[in-house]
Amino acid sequence: MFVKMRFEELPTPCYVVDEALVEKNVKILNGIMKRTGAKIVLAQKAFSMSTMYPLIGKYLTGTTASGLYEARLGHEEMGKENHIFAPAYREDEIDEIVSICDHIIFNSFSQLEKFKQRALDAGSKVGLRINPECSTQVGHEIYDPCSPGSRFGVKQEDVRQELLDGVSGLHFHTLCQQNSDDLETTLDAVEEKFGQWLPQMEWINFGGGHHITRDDYDIPRLEACIKRMQDKYGLEVYLEPGEAIALNAGYLVTTVLDLHKNGIDIAILDTSATCHMPDVLEMPYRPPLFGSGEPGEKPFTYRLGGPTCLTGDVIGDYSFDQPLKSGDRLVFGDMAIYSMVKTNTFNGMPLPAIATKHQDGDCQVVRQFGYQDFKTRLA
Ligand SMILES: *Cc1c(COP(=O)(O)O)cnc(C)c1O
Repeated sequence: MFVKMRFEELPTPCYVVDEALVEKNVKILNGIMKRTGAKIVLAQKAFSMSTMYPLIGKYLTGTTASGLYEARLGHEEMGKENHIFAPAYREDEIDEIVSICDHIIFNSFSQLEKFKQRALDAGSKVGLRINPECSTQVGHEIYDPCSPGSRFGVKQEDVRQELLDGVSGLHFHTLCQQNSDDLETTLDAVEEKFGQWLPQMEWINFGGGHHITRDDYDIPRLEACIKRMQDKYGLEVYLEPGEAIALNAGYLVTTVLDLHKNGIDIAILDTSATCHMPDVLEMPYRPPLFGSGEPGEKPFTYRLGGPTCLTGDVIGDYSFDQPLKSGDRLVFGDMAIYSMVKTNTFNGMPLPAIATKHQDGDCQVVRQFGYQDFKTRLA
């Protein structure tokens, strides 16, 4: 099958996920689980590289999904607790979903009325997503489920007490790359608005967006938040981070194809922002690049762009100690999350290969893509 090779020998473009770094992250999460009794599941939306699931499953409680396909993947490849939340479920999918998911979270009372009994009959636990109307992120509306007009969760004023029968848990997800002080603020709002229903619940799910594996994350404060819900209401506490599992645990390796000039120096890479790291444009953010500096910081500054026809397919401006030349390899960091899961073949771009960097330092390509992947997605 796929041979082992050195990092320098990988084809480009290629995502490389570092097993040792994923394990370091999930060990941190496992420490929280052990100290508090909380359960932590992988939100597959951020990271769905199923060959890593056996490793992740050694430390976490299971998976959560945003729809049938992620639910199937978690069921088949991790096979532990399998949660799901979707803004609305499809009639033609719900039976399969309840057969493979043990926690089904609904976004509205109409969904609850429609499907609750089928979930309960299948032996699944039923949860309701709430909207605590507590925005803790500024200038980040597309990532704020509490923003005005958001389609996520039931507000306090819309709770229909008579339909809570059979609902064993409440779920909120309001954070994005945030620390535990914002979780604490959110819990205050959850208690203020939904506290009257907490004693009748068995579990509460704090959602994702907890940047737990970031260096400055305040873990003791998170553990205090978990304990607060356990002690005050006797609740089982779930967290479902995505980013935190593979934060800073992957790379995107690319090759410089050509150099160009237009007032500034430009390098054309064999990877594309819009196809291979769309969050660079959508979020937006500037991915770290090994051996580089801010523009002007080192002597040679380049604008790094992709090989598509989109003018805005630009990763950013970076500076280097030496001039770039075609054939140079560049390595972007933090490329495991919200990158591989969001790729597309716009402009006929090839999809990057996917490789694992093993604990011993050797690399192995686990998946390669070709022309057929482009063609068959379009007709
Ligand atoms: C996106 C999402 C998560 C994971 O969020 P991260 O920011 O990757 O930690 C968890 N739960 C729900 C409902 C989500 O939408």
